[in-house]
Amino acid sequence: MKLGEIGEFGLIERIKTMFDAPAGVTGIGDDCAVIPCGETDLLITTDMLVEGVHFLREDITPEQLGWKAVAVNLSDMAAMGSRATGSFLSIALPSGLDVEWVERFMNGYRQISRQYGVPLLGGDTTSSLRDVAINVAVVGFCPSGTAKLRSSALAGDLICVSGNLGDSGGGLRVILEKRPRNSEEQLLIERHYMPYPQIEAGLALARIDGVHAMMDISDGIASDLRHIAAASGVGARVDLDRLPVSQELLVCSERYGWDAIETAASAGEDYQLLFTVSPEAEESLNVAHTVIGHMMDGSEIEWLRGGKRVEMKGFVHF
Ligand code: ADP
Ligand code: MG
Repeated sequence: MKLGEIGEFGLIERIKTMFDAPAGVTGIGDDCAVIPCGETDLLITTDMLVEGVHFLREDITPEQLGWKAVAVNLSDMAAMGSRATGSFLSIALPSGLDVEWVERFMNGYRQISRQYGVPLLGGDTTSSLRDVAINVAVVGFCPSGTAKLRSSALAGDLICVSGNLGDSGGGLRVILEKRPRNSEEQLLIERHYMPYPQIEAGLALARIDGVHAMMDISDGIASDLRHIAAASGVGARVDLDRLPVSQELLVCSERYGWDAIETAASAGEDYQLLFTVSPEAEESLNVAHTVIGHMMDGSEIEWLRGGKRVEMKGFVHF
């Protein structure tokens, strides 16, 4: 059987069945692993960026790539409602690569590390035959038992997102479709290459008991909401017409005939937070958010557009 037949998540499921997480430890399946350490919980996450799959070296600046490599990991910390303590960087580089490229990459890495107060603490450096591969791991600590998991959603919870969706996906389309770069297109590209992890929003949401499940949106809600639903053993109904989209995405969608809602739901890499909250607690949310639907009994996810059921698919590797 080929990987394409079981898919990224089918493979992760198979790997998961081979190992048992110790009692009290949250292992494979959430944005970070959660390991109890007395008064605090240790959080660990790791993410990989591969040339040709996650980025094109001709298109992204080295500074942007350094930023993004850290950003995608900080976003997983935000998803638990935690700050990050430090990062580890492992890189595989072809010998023909300019030293200047690596220096510029490290400048972008340092810029986000400083902005979020997350120092680089170690890593590994190796050669590759042709492509650049980057793996970053981030560790953090939160008060014991306060991390927000994917598995805590309840039927009746409102489903919320912390900011606009689809800008990153629009930016990727501008790049791939080689569109002219007016100010709207530029902004979408910047959102794609320089996402801002929602650490402060995650911290604020972690303090609210009525916020139940949380994750970050890396593959698009069409895929990511399935993870919350499956982990929590509930279904959901989403009103796609309520997805928050930027003016820039609307302008470009009009210009190029894109479906803004489809991009917002399934393109991914927005790195906003997707969370569920009990209807009574919504009033106490001190974080900008949009309600897009609610969790329900059952296991099905209903996607509604103009009141009608539609099919939705997020981004999946393989
Ligand atoms: P995220 O997008 O939040 O980083 P992923 O979708 O990449 O999460 O991964 C889902 C879960 O599977 C995470 O808990 C992650 O740690 C785990 N995972 C992914 N790949 C592997 C692997 N090769 N071995 C063990 N766990 C993995
Ligand atoms: Mg995540």
